[in-house]
Amino acid sequence: IKTIAVLTSGGDAPGMNAAIRAVVLAGHHYNLNVLGYQHGYIGLMEQEYQPLTPGDVYNIIQRGGTLLKSARCEPFKTEAGAQQAADNLQQAGVDALIVIGGDGSFRGAEHLSHFWDGQVIGLPGTIDNDVFGTDATIGYYTAIDTALENIDRVRDTADAFERIFLIEVMGRHAGFIGLSAAVGSGAEQVLLPELCEQEQIDIDALTRHIQKAQKIRGKCSYIVIVSENLWPGGANALAEDLNRRTGIECRPVILGHVQRGGSPVSLDRMLASKLGAYAVEAALAGKSGIMLGEQNAKVCEVPLAQTWSQRKPLDPYLVRIQTEMFDLLSTEA
Ligand code: ADP
Repeated sequence: IKTIAVLTSGGDAPGMNAAIRAVVLAGHHYNLNVLGYQHGYIGLMEQEYQPLTPGDVYNIIQRGGTLLKSARCEPFKTEAGAQQAADNLQQAGVDALIVIGGDGSFRGAEHLSHFWDGQVIGLPGTIDNDVFGTDATIGYYTAIDTALENIDRVRDTADAFERIFLIEVMGRHAGFIGLSAAVGSGAEQVLLPELCEQEQIDIDALTRHIQKAQKIRGKCSYIVIVSENLWPGGANALAEDLNRRTGIECRPVILGHVQRGGSPVSLDRMLASKLGAYAVEAALAGKSGIMLGEQNAKVCEVPLAQTWSQRKPLDPYLVRIQTEMFDLLSTEA
């Protein structure tokens, strides 16, 4: 093969730049032409690309966001859309396309492969970590650190005023950020999609837990981590509901998009660099229709369709220590 292309698609994540850099440098090492498509699948449909050389990726490993920009693209989901993208890739002489994104972007990559003969390789880039087949996704570790840094700040003020805070974190429909943030911040309670039956929150149980904490410890700060999309209206509505139904004053904080930005932490840079370089070698080895991930610190290849057909479980041990061992209230009378 002579030419490879790379794009970033769907929700952006810190470390995407590090992955692009690794693809470009590895491509250069193997004397390949590397093209960068802008704006995810929009760039494929509109033939919006530029050659990428090592000079273009100089000084970006530490930057959040993505040099290639990211976007969502509805028209690409149609047959005509994917056919247009396939024709454009053919015209640009692309042999292999590397897609950095989440499970939606991988569905898109699979869809494209029905219209295009070239090789397609996915790299998991999303803060949500909700991609089956890899222990972590590029951006996840940074998002946890960003959440923790902010939750620690809320804890300081919560503690000073002995207040209750509901802190909403991202994760789309998965509780990976929520669970890690709860364990890492020493939160009193955590509400995650995986732990709330039919995505319903038991407000009575939450109220009893808060009341018990206040009975045992006296007035004290109390932090609940809530995953987004768990409750209609999110943490704001949940806090209001709690205030109304129980008389307990509770303040919401929505961390929001700060979790998507910032300089990637070391683990995300390492993962992105490893997977980006490996993607180029996999392309040279003729591989296609796979996502590259990491399991037990080893790079692994996962068929694209597997990445979205199975739900990745939370670490059951982390769940157990957070909800049982670290919940002092569960053992005290
Ligand atoms: P993420 O990659 O972060 O999960 P999205 O779910 O928004 O992000 O998907 C990104 C893009 O991938 C979409 O805008 C669309 O162009 C493409 N895509 C998503 N799902 C499909 C699908 N089922 N078929 C074809 N393309 C898809």
